Amino acid sequence: MNRPGSISALASSDSDYDPNSMPVAKAREYIRAFLSPVSTVERLHLRAALGRVLAEDIASTMNVPAYDNSAMDGYAMRFADLNPEAGATLKLAGSALAGKPYTGMLAPGQAVRIMTGGVVPPECDTVVMQERATVSGDAVIIPAGQQQGQNVRRAGSDISAGAVVFKRGQIVRPAELGMIASLGIGEVAVFRRLRVAFFSTGDELVPIGGVLGPGQIHDSNRYTLFGMLTRLGVEALDLGLVRDDPAAIEAACREAAGAADVVITSGGVSVGEADFVKQILGRLGEVLFWKIAMKPGRPLAYGKLGAAHFFGLPGNPVSAMVTFYQFVREALLVLMGVPQPQPLPMLQAVCTTPIKKAPGRTEFQRGILSQDTDGQWTVRSTGDQGSGILSSMSQANCFIVLPEAQGNTPAGTSVDVQVLEGIL
Ligand code: AMP
Ligand code: MG
Repeated sequence: MNRPGSISALASSDSDYDPNSMPVAKAREYIRAFLSPVSTVERLHLRAALGRVLAEDIASTMNVPAYDNSAMDGYAMRFADLNPEAGATLKLAGSALAGKPYTGMLAPGQAVRIMTGGVVPPECDTVVMQERATVSGDAVIIPAGQQQGQNVRRAGSDISAGAVVFKRGQIVRPAELGMIASLGIGEVAVFRRLRVAFFSTGDELVPIGGVLGPGQIHDSNRYTLFGMLTRLGVEALDLGLVRDDPAAIEAACREAAGAADVVITSGGVSVGEADFVKQILGRLGEVLFWKIAMKPGRPLAYGKLGAAHFFGLPGNPVSAMVTFYQFVREALLVLMGVPQPQPLPMLQAVCTTPIKKAPGRTEFQRGILSQDTDGQWTVRSTGDQGSGILSSMSQANCFIVLPEAQGNTPAGTSVDVQVLEGIL
């Protein structure tokens, strides 16, 4: 999809555009068309870069490992000194330990004792593991059947000098920290942290610490949002709880858009409430209200408030989380500087429980993926799929993704499963 001039221009130029029945994939595509990633770069000490996004390619100035070294405890030798059919007896000339290379010149017919990580002397090309050799005095007896080059980790076999090890846009995870450290690099350029402001709307909501009156509930969405945002590695700005009052919502939206790159709200996008919110957001920017053809998470608002990106999530706690996983997570990763975020891992598993579903919408039912006694991975429903049943999200480690056209599904059917474990 080409990047259009404005969000409403995109909508009006698209003959398939139907805000009342927006397919999940289409909504993702629309959102994607408007995302402009952060560009400010900062240099950080390596450890502080954990969870950040690299703003520059990282090239290696060296081979890793820097020298040929042994993958085993054993004996290093010239392959040419061995008789592949009959084995050989070599004379032990010394030892090469990790960090303590053998410094002599190895004469033909000699071998050195070598430990894992020890430098393979330049004359040698083969290591025999100690379990296969026999030592007798200062001689080592090597049986037949050795392969040239065995058990030698070659210089540059992990990373070769000059290679681009990581590209701009790479998230720095523990393995990247270690690899960058292995290159001797102590500082990296990363994009600045994305700022995301969020607030809840709803007259029925009471912050924790408050006493619940009749018809009131505690505001939980700000906590799930805080958790999801923090896990993604953005700066989460909690702007609190806002009444269903046009002036209060407008003020909160202005404050949020001024303070952050992204504004996320929960509640106020369902049909009954959307009207006045639409007017407010229309004054501050350009926002589209969609009924996504999905369950849960049907209403979703997306747009811009000034320069800030806006996501209006549904108030139902499960819907807010599901829409975050399906739309917001990927969008925030793009804004953080990751050009092609990995989608949630998807796999197929046999569902051991029957599933009730009416055709017409993509459903993201909460599931529990586990290994049965035969070692097979199967999935089962968490039970009640109501969009207010937040315990279903806590029990789930996956979404069972049922396509639009799908109807009731008997137990034993193979289903698509999106893995959530470790994602946020
Ligand atoms: P809404 O989208 O505002 O119509 O809200 C839909 C449902 O979600 C209602 O039952 C609300 O009470 C509930 N809800 C809205 N916001 C929150 C919140 N922040 N925490 C917990 N539940 C909420
Ligand atoms: Mg509400």
